[in-house]
Amino acid sequence: MRCKNCKEVFEPKWFNWKFCDKDLCHNLGVKELVKKEREKKAKQERKETKKAKEALLTHRDYLKLFQTVFNTYIRERDKDLPCISCGKNNEKQFHAGHYRSVGSCPELRFNELNVWRQCATCNTYLHGNLIEYRKELINRIGVDKVEWLEGYQPSNKMLIPEIKEKIKEYKAKINSLK
Ligand SMILES: [Zn+2]
Ligand SMILES: [Zn+2]
Repeated sequence: MRCKNCKEVFEPKWFNWKFCDKDLCHNLGVKELVKKEREKKAKQERKETKKAKEALLTHRDYLKLFQTVFNTYIRERDKDLPCISCGKNNEKQFHAGHYRSVGSCPELRFNELNVWRQCATCNTYLHGNLIEYRKELINRIGVDKVEWLEGYQPSNKMLIPEIKEKIKEYKAKINSLK
């Protein structure tokens, strides 16, 4: 083994000890060890803080978090498509617009057929611009699927661990599109 500092060959006394016995080298080794321990502790503390913060998040918070990730995915998936309602592509801001709103049909909140890239004007000021939305939705996915979306949707509530998994899944999907 060569000393990490002076590069002279030496016989290590402990596993993973990379410094020879000369005072200077030994002291450097101790310093490095202390630094590593400190970093390890800081990392542990960060991990615990993150855990504590997560413990405070409610089911609703997780749904919101997932919505943000899901919407980012939709905008990324549709980045080459114009607004689903007005067909414009030169708007400044684009949202992920629901065909059936979260309020009226929470079961489709995270359904990829129900959410498309939509300009802020149609999404916010025209309340979804739904008549035009429906026409273009039929072009994109076919009338059968649109009618399916419009039909009865069974409850599909997710528990927090499931939502966390979904968040992970959609983050990976976003990365694979980029
Ligand atoms: Zn040395
Ligand atoms: Zn629009």
